[in-house]
Amino acid sequence: DGFLVLRDLTKKFNDTVAVQGVSVGIEQGEFFALLGPSGCGKTTTMRCIAGFEQPTSGHVEIAGRAVAGLSPAQRDTGMVFQNYALFPHYDVFRNVAYGLLMDRLHGGVGRRAGAIGSLLNGRIAHRQAEVRDEVARALEQVDLAGYERRKISQLSGGQQQRVALARALVKQPSVLLMDEPLSNLDRKLRNQMRYTIRDIQQRVGITTIFVTHDQEEAMSMADRIALMRDGKIVQVAKPSELYERPATPWAADFVGTSNLLDGQIAGRSDGVGSRVDVGGLGFRSEDSWDAADKQCKVLIRPEAINVSRAPDNGGSAAGGGTREPNQLLGRVRHVGFLGAIVQYEVETPAGLVLAEHSFGGPSSLMEVGDNVVLGVHPSRVRLLAPE
Ligand code: ADP
Ligand code: MG
Repeated sequence: DGFLVLRDLTKKFNDTVAVQGVSVGIEQGEFFALLGPSGCGKTTTMRCIAGFEQPTSGHVEIAGRAVAGLSPAQRDTGMVFQNYALFPHYDVFRNVAYGLLMDRLHGGVGRRAGAIGSLLNGRIAHRQAEVRDEVARALEQVDLAGYERRKISQLSGGQQQRVALARALVKQPSVLLMDEPLSNLDRKLRNQMRYTIRDIQQRVGITTIFVTHDQEEAMSMADRIALMRDGKIVQVAKPSELYERPATPWAADFVGTSNLLDGQIAGRSDGVGSRVDVGGLGFRSEDSWDAADKQCKVLIRPEAINVSRAPDNGGSAAGGGTREPNQLLGRVRHVGFLGAIVQYEVETPAGLVLAEHSFGGPSSLMEVGDNVVLGVHPSRVRLLAPE
């Protein structure tokens, strides 16, 4: 059940339960993201995999092998840290070779401090053909072939990030671990690096766990995402599935923006899906509802809402009443022009509703005070159990 397996992993620090009963199986070659707010246990989970922490209970398997008791160096993982800990005054070769030697040093060759000193002073370095080849291959993997002699301080932020990756890849680990590796970069570079890292991961084909608190980052990079909260996994899903079918109202809110309205199940809808009352108005959802409790949260994503001008005779009804099922009349309260996207906050009988459209030119814009009709297809009306 996976190339990397976490089974009921729990880690306590005194009274703090940092990770609680986490179980997940990650496929070989998969790019897997751990996503969640600060303090939810992402780093601790990662450190248990890497061997920097011992789990309180539960266990970790890498490539079919239980790794309890193995040191970080014996676990066949490569790690990229948040502040990727390069030596700025040394060249690329030494920074990458360091990743290789760390492992050998842990394996018992030489005294660690002395050997790192020798490496950095160039006494080990280039003479060893084997080391040279391995460093060259890792640099090729990150598109920095031939950069061996460059100093770190002379590289761009993006290049430094790739050196950090090469350092993690140089010993050819079977799992790559990255803990918020982009969080120290400015926004533009951070967004570019998403695809750079994804490309490198695909090319190398390495099983990867990527920790982030940034849902866009996780969504744009990962094959699957484990959403975490308070040390537990809330949901494991593909990005589009996590967005479209979040397991809980909290998950819906954490991943993207959402309208979460209070609803009351009113019965089945023509054999498929459900009828639900929202603020006294009838809606249809394609979701079925089996729970005894009729109270629910109705999730409607902003971009699923179609906003159109109310016909003139509809103006008198603004602020009340439905037209057809899944239509709401309302009045525009705020218009947020974000460039590619236009947001409308609309006052409706069901409460404030946020709608988003892609910008279709100036003449398409609604204005504050406009009477509008909101429509949503039943396939995009989600019914969630309240928390
Ligand atoms: P995240 O990476 O998602 O921000 P962490 O795994 O760093 O979360 O932390 C999870 C919880 O465990 C937090 O409450 C944090 O304060 C606590 N924690 C993490 N490491 C330690 C530690 N070494 N000692 C005590 N508490 C810790
Ligand atoms: Mg962390």
